Amino acid sequence: MTAAAVKSFDIIINGGGIAGLTLAGLLRDSGLQVAVIERQPLPPLSDEPELRVSAIGRASLAVFERCGALRAMLDAHATPFREMHVWDSAGAGEIHFDSAEAGLDTLGYIIENNRIQHALLQSAKAADNVTLLCPAVLGGIQREQDAVLVTLESGERLRARLIVGADGFNSPVRRFAAIDYPLRSYKQKALVCTVSTELPHQHTAWQIFLPGGPLAFLPLFASDGRDQCSIVWSLPESEADCLLALEDDDFEQRLQQAFEYRLGDVRLTSPRAAFPLRHGHAAQTAQANLALIGDAAHIIHPLAGQGANLGILDAAELADVITSAHGKGRQWWAHHTLRRYERARKGETLMMETAMSGFNLLFSNDNTWLAMLRNAGLNLVDHAPALKQQFMRVTGAS
Ligand SMILES: Cc1cc2nc3c(=O)[nH]c(=O)nc-3n(C[C@H](O)[C@H](O)[C@H](O)COP(=O)(O)OP(=O)(O)OC[C@H]3O[C@@H](n4cnc5c(N)ncnc54)[C@H](O)[C@@H]3O)c2cc1C
Repeated sequence: MTAAAVKSFDIIINGGGIAGLTLAGLLRDSGLQVAVIERQPLPPLSDEPELRVSAIGRASLAVFERCGALRAMLDAHATPFREMHVWDSAGAGEIHFDSAEAGLDTLGYIIENNRIQHALLQSAKAADNVTLLCPAVLGGIQREQDAVLVTLESGERLRARLIVGADGFNSPVRRFAAIDYPLRSYKQKALVCTVSTELPHQHTAWQIFLPGGPLAFLPLFASDGRDQCSIVWSLPESEADCLLALEDDDFEQRLQQAFEYRLGDVRLTSPRAAFPLRHGHAAQTAQANLALIGDAAHIIHPLAGQGANLGILDAAELADVITSAHGKGRQWWAHHTLRRYERARKGETLMMETAMSGFNLLFSNDNTWLAMLRNAGLNLVDHAPALKQQFMRVTGAS
């Protein structure tokens, strides 16, 4: 029996999450043949809000526009947030960002992850040069002279100049390349759920720093006449497990109390789930014929809602490096070209990982001196327009 023919592409993207599909969307019309391998088909969209949502900043929205996916994404479920309100439970420190102060209509949108993926997928599917292989699981990768040979678990084989690992923090592509990725646990879990709130959320992203970790209320579309919020509550692992086990009524009591009743009574509108929190950074994000983007390259604390945003900006940078070199007839898959992507992204992603770990350490404890220091810091930034602008720029909001 003869082996099946090897299918040829220019680029294989392993992983059809937000980072991988953004890259596919950006490469439409690039003249390069792109394959996306994804093991799980996307569940259909539902009217109920999904548990996993992301705060998407303006810089990422501009990338989605380039992918031709923004219009489909900004449907009735996408909720603009115009203000951010952050405060410390142990003091009077608080900081408030208002899009109007920066002359903007919004700071960003809260969008369900699967709606982002559906919109990106539609735009990638409409392109002649993008092939989606789903469900399909990457089985192995072999290096060849200036190319990679990818074998799927089905036995199908694909060859390409470049493989991109967009396959999450446990990235098989990164493991194949033997790239070090020291992962550190925060010993916290993020408890997520959706609630309806008695008071309107005012299109504001709210976050209180509690001794166990930050609690965020992110604005969502209304249902049954009541506004809804997506909750991301970072807590020590054992506390998160206890809160998961509570009866709904008891959980609602604990949540509204922890949130100081800022939005009145809350009512659960979804089940609860929890995700272990960790941080890490790949020692390398580019090799000859190989690149890593998104959580495959770095994973950070969700306290500032930046993980997906970083992956989207990775995809944009990598697409720019590839298309620019391709346009000039250069070896866009070579290590020296892909190093430009690595260099361009390393500073921001490392800075963000360090900053998130620092914030988490500074805020997630009940030391009196630290409480005084951070409250003074919050008030200082709140009264310094230049610092606030800088903060908004770093988080991609302006
Ligand atoms: C509680 C919580 C809240 C968050 N909130 C925000 C927020 O508000 N804003 C924000 O920007 N970020 C947020 N984040 C971070 C964000 O969710 C992640 O950074 C982002 O989803 C990572 O996307 P990705 O595409 O890199 O990876 P993933 O979403 O992990 O996608 C990887 C894909 O690869 C596929 N895959 C893996 N292995 C294989 C294989 N062998 N073969 C085929 N396919 C494979 C997987 O099925 C998956 O679809 C949050 C994270 C958490 C935990």
